[in-house]
Amino acid sequence: MPEKVVIIGSGPAAWTAAIYAARATLEPLVIQGNPFDDKNRQNGTLPLGQLALTTEVENFPSWPAGDTRAYLKTALKADDPDFPYWVAGDKPQPTHGINGPELVALMRQQAVNFGTRVESKDVVSVDVKKKPFTLTTHDGETVEALSIIVATGARANYLGLPSEDAFKNKGVSACAVCDGFLPRFRNQPIVVVGGGDSAVEEASYLTKFASQVHLFVRRDALRASKIMADRALSNPKIDMRWHTELDEVLGDDKRGVTAIRARNNKSGEKYELPAAGLFLAIGHTPNVGFLDGQVELTPHGFLKWTTLGRTYTSVEGVFAAGDVADDYYKQAISAAGTGCMAALDAERYLGHHGLI
Ligand code: NAP
Repeated sequence: MPEKVVIIGSGPAAWTAAIYAARATLEPLVIQGNPFDDKNRQNGTLPLGQLALTTEVENFPSWPAGDTRAYLKTALKADDPDFPYWVAGDKPQPTHGINGPELVALMRQQAVNFGTRVESKDVVSVDVKKKPFTLTTHDGETVEALSIIVATGARANYLGLPSEDAFKNKGVSACAVCDGFLPRFRNQPIVVVGGGDSAVEEASYLTKFASQVHLFVRRDALRASKIMADRALSNPKIDMRWHTELDEVLGDDKRGVTAIRARNNKSGEKYELPAAGLFLAIGHTPNVGFLDGQVELTPHGFLKWTTLGRTYTSVEGVFAAGDVADDYYKQAISAAGTGCMAALDAERYLGHHGLI
């Protein structure tokens, strides 16, 4: 029997879709990715997705920063007429806001609690030209599906320099949260490249371990949100290097990365900077390769939502949710929102075609 709905992915979009699909008794199967694949680690495409690679999440509604238990006691008073159903009590609560891994792991648990099944595999190809659809996983197994929700998110970009590739796992990383604690970076200078929220977040995080973090920004301005940019700009351990690009990663097999060859793209000055590590935070590319051109993309390579306000793709029965289809907002909460929409769209599609 084909699955009613298969959800490919493992971030807020996938788990929210699973929660809704499971509650609609569609018995969803989530194929969350292979946790043992090193490429997945390098690309930030391990199970639980990019949210699990962030630190504190301060902008997901319902998780105020600080001491959550104290917040609940003070902000939501038992006798507050606006909260007639609020029961103050001593139910177990986390004692702080929430961090990325916790938030997405709770989402998965919520989906599992409603009966979602989870497989830890990579989907390597699909056939959506005939129904039921077929998905093939990295171990050669196939799964048939009446509908698919693609929520595969996006993977970290690298600069594409040969020297950068040569030092992956030896000091070059695109994930500060995965690798920043490694002994090779302790009390050493580190270079971060990028100017968005990821770059300033990674740079700030790495100051916990590094002696200094040099942030290479190719323009004279950050793209990051003001609150996060201000934090980085006022952090004494972050050395902002404007108009700066990276030409080469230097090092050797034994020690890994030892220095960076940098260039000021305004003055033309070239110099070497000692560094034990290089962290890339220069944006992401949507994970659509396994679709092999069968589903239409936008000019920027994201899955195309073909109907305004719906998660429909160019293939009837295939829906898209989260960052894989979002080249603009890319937030945990917006991904969760489109995950919900995709599950509702899939349910209505299956019902409309008499498939459930
Ligand atoms: P992003 O916003 O697309 O920023 C990418 C940055 O990398 C830009 O500053 C860009 O420079 C720079 N860049 C791109 N290619 C480069 C190259 N070849 N060499 C040097 N620099 C290069 O990506 P992101 O920071 O990963 O953020 C993605 C989304 O996730 C955003 O919507 C962001 O708000 C969100 N996010 C949110 C949080 C949070 O709220 N806690 C944390 C992380 C990410 P230019 O500016 O010159 O183009």
